Amino acid sequence: MNRTLATLVYRTAALLRGEKTFAYLRDYERNPFRDLGAVQVWQEAEIAALLEYACEHVPFYREFRETPFAQFPLIDKKMLKAGGNSFLSEQRETLGRLTTKVTSGSTSEPLKIVKDAGSMAREQAATYRSYGWAGVRPGDAQARFWGVPLKAKDARKNAVRDALLNRKRYSAFNYTPASFPGYMDALRAQGPDYIYGYPSILAEIGHWLRQDPARAGSPGKGPVPTLRAIITTAEILTPTMREAIEQGFATRVFDEYGCAEVGSIAHDCEHGSLHVNSENLLVEILTDEGEIRSEGTGRLVLTELHNRAQPLIRYDSGDYGELSFAPCACGRALPVLENVHGRAYDTVIGPEGRRYNAAFFSYIFKEVQLRGEMVRQFQVIQNDREITFRIVRGADYDSSSEALLARLLADEFGDYFEPRFEYPDSIERESSGKLRQLKRVSPPDPVSQVLDSP
Ligand SMILES: [Zn+2]
Repeated sequence: MNRTLATLVYRTAALLRGEKTFAYLRDYERNPFRDLGAVQVWQEAEIAALLEYACEHVPFYREFRETPFAQFPLIDKKMLKAGGNSFLSEQRETLGRLTTKVTSGSTSEPLKIVKDAGSMAREQAATYRSYGWAGVRPGDAQARFWGVPLKAKDARKNAVRDALLNRKRYSAFNYTPASFPGYMDALRAQGPDYIYGYPSILAEIGHWLRQDPARAGSPGKGPVPTLRAIITTAEILTPTMREAIEQGFATRVFDEYGCAEVGSIAHDCEHGSLHVNSENLLVEILTDEGEIRSEGTGRLVLTELHNRAQPLIRYDSGDYGELSFAPCACGRALPVLENVHGRAYDTVIGPEGRRYNAAFFSYIFKEVQLRGEMVRQFQVIQNDREITFRIVRGADYDSSSEALLARLLADEFGDYFEPRFEYPDSIERESSGKLRQLKRVSPPDPVSQVLDSP
C-alpha cells in the first residue's frame, strides 16, 4: 500500500464520516498560536459558547446558568456514570455522526463518552498537526506495536483496515526476547516511516538492540533504515525508557499523552516539550489542597472546548502532572506538561506524603540493569509500608540483584518501606491493554480525600 493511496483513504474516510478533519488541520497548521494572549482569547470565547450551550441543552448543567466558569463544579468518572443521560445534550441527534468512546476501567465497569463529528474532527486534526512535529504525515507507513485481536474475525477486520491505512501490526502482547529478531526482520521488510505504540515493549526491544553492536544496523542508518521517528502512547514514558528506545532504534521518540475520555491531549514538539492541544482543550490543575489553578502541580482537570454531544467541563481526569506556560524554543505558545504520572494511584506515597512516580523506580531498575541481563519487565506495588517488586527475570538475575534492589530502596526511604519480591513469568496488562509499572493499593489519594470530605 503506498502513501498517496493511504492519504486518499484517510481523506475519504473523514469525508464519509462528515468530519472536517483536514480543513481543521490546515487551519491549525497555518494559524499556530504564537502568544499566550491569543490562546486565552480563543479559549475564553470557546468556553463561553460551550457553557451557554451546556446550560441550555444538557440537563445536568441547567442549574448552572448563572454560574461563572471560575465557579463551575468539577465532575469525574463516578459522577458521569451515576448521571448517565443527564450529561448528554438533548439536541445530540442534530450534531452529525456521533461516536461513542468506551473507556475500559481497570477496576470497574466501562464509561461511555459520546462525541460529535466536529469534536472528533478537531481531535484528529490536532493529532495530525502534532505528528507533523515528528515529521509524520497522515498516510505515512506505520509499524504499530499494539494489541492483536484474538478472534479470527476481528483480526481479519483489522488486517484490512491496517492495509488501507498503510500500517502493519506487531503484537505488543505475548512476546519474549526470542520474538525480537523476527520483529526486526519484519520491520526491515516493511520499511515503515515511523513506529507507533506502547513504550513498554519498544523500550524492551530498544534495550535488547543496544546490548549487541551486531544489532545496531549500518552506521548513521540504525537497525531500521527507513525509520524517521517513534511515537509512543498510552503508557507512561519514563526518561530511561525514552533513552533505551532512542539509543536502540537510533531515532527520536515523540511522546503522545491522552486519556480515553477526551482522546489526545498533548504531544512532544521538536524540542521535547509536551504541548497541550489548546485549540481543543483547556487544562487546569487541581492541587492537593483541592484548589483549581491555571498552572502548577496536581491533578489535570480538562475542559473539552468543542464537544456539544456530551460536554466535559472541568473533568477531573485523575492523572497527575505539572503544567507551565514557560516559553519553548519551538515558538509555539501552547502550555507544556511535564512529569505526567498517570492516574493518581500510579504514584507511590512515601514518608510525609511525598510522591514518587514510575520514573523514580525506573532509575532504580536502571542501576540493576547495568549489571547484565537482569530484568525484562517490572511492576512496583505499594500497600501502605510494603513495596512489592514484581519482576520478570532476565538470564543474569540472582539473589544479589534482590539485595541490590532492597539497598536502593533503603537509600531513598531508609527503613520506611519493607521490600517484597515476586517473580511472575509475565506482567499482566490492564483490561485497557496498558502495562502499569506502578500501582498503589493503599494509602488512598489525598486529593480525593479533600474532595470527598464534607
Ligand atoms: Zn515546543
